Amino acid sequence: MVQMGHQQVVFCLDEGVGLRAIIAIHDTTLGPALGGVRFWAYQSEEEALWDVLRLARGMTYKAAVSGLNLGGGKAVIIGDPLHIKSEALLRRFGQFVESLGGRYITAEDMGVSVKDMEYVRIETSYVTGLPEELGGSGDPSPVTAYGVYLGMKAAWKKLTGTESLKGVKILVQGLGKVGAALVELLQKEQAILYATDLSASRLEEFRTQYNVQPAAPDQWYLQPIDIFAPCARGGVLNQETIPHLRCAVVAGSANNQLADEEQDSIRLAERGILYVPDFLINAGGLINVYTELEGYSRSRALARTEYIYEATMRVLAAAEQRQITPHQAAMQIAEERIRSIAALRARSFSHSVFETSQPIWQNKSL
Ligand code: NAD
Repeated sequence: MVQMGHQQVVFCLDEGVGLRAIIAIHDTTLGPALGGVRFWAYQSEEEALWDVLRLARGMTYKAAVSGLNLGGGKAVIIGDPLHIKSEALLRRFGQFVESLGGRYITAEDMGVSVKDMEYVRIETSYVTGLPEELGGSGDPSPVTAYGVYLGMKAAWKKLTGTESLKGVKILVQGLGKVGAALVELLQKEQAILYATDLSASRLEEFRTQYNVQPAAPDQWYLQPIDIFAPCARGGVLNQETIPHLRCAVVAGSANNQLADEEQDSIRLAERGILYVPDFLINAGGLINVYTELEGYSRSRALARTEYIYEATMRVLAAAEQRQITPHQAAMQIAEERIRSIAALRARSFSHSVFETSQPIWQNKSL
């Protein structure tokens, strides 16, 4: 198994309710490990383990680069949710989360619904991303879209000296919850919009409502544009697609856009395409649930998300200065923040200056 520096990995088994789950805590230097629980029919335990380790590590970097006081964690429940999901299984999972005493905070992810999270919440208070009716933050997608929009503007400013997207040709791939909210923001700014989606009716809806020009889902990269915004699925930037891209910037919400993080970020740079790291500009959703931990306010979540503009500028400047790709720069900046806070903690404890026994998520002044 590849060593990724995780602090704790918990295997949760209860044959009585059919639960097989893994909780991975990657790093809690900055705060409790927050990340969703994914319910998926993995082919094997090894596959599930690999996925949860990779996703938990990704959460550490996302939180760190976004300036949040959170660590990285993730959970997976193994099995087909359509066949094995039950109240007892979900509540048992909640008990395992509770047993970690707040080191890991869970949330909704693929295969898990709002209703499911209500069962989990009966057994543990370490849950976030609850619906608005339960005092939670609700759908994070508009906040995610706002962060992508700001990251896009920062990249355009870096490239052209202006942050206005008026008249800029932008193709949005995926008109789902995030893509749709992004189109609305971009339309207000009078960008020239193109879009692609697997659903022809969705494309048609956006053509009539927002004057978005449709592109075929399998040929989107033939369209000459200024900015490509992947908002559908991961792995879309790879050795097959990158040579065909006809854009100056890539900035979108999809997780894990680079099929091969190192190689594809270099391929993009070699083609002179400015790639804005996905985990940096899609952090609005995480910022949204983070805000819920202290009592939710949408305006505070949006205000915090504005930091993404500044963070993007910082990453792009560091990439230029250090002669590395923006992806590498974002990773380095995240690691530097974690190291500096770890050193700060060590200093504080060694001088007995500061001590807290309170979990960070209960600290209202954060
Ligand atoms: P969604 O399921 O609501 O929408 C995805 C859309 O992409 C759908 O309309 C689907 O038809 C389309 N699509 C799928 N495959 C496609 C393809 N090959 N070509 C064109 N269109 C395709 O998802 P979402 O919540 O809008 O999230 C979009 C992406 O952003 C995902 O990768 C998600 O992991 C990521 N993300 C979302 C959030 C959030 O707040 N929702 C936060 C962070 C990251």
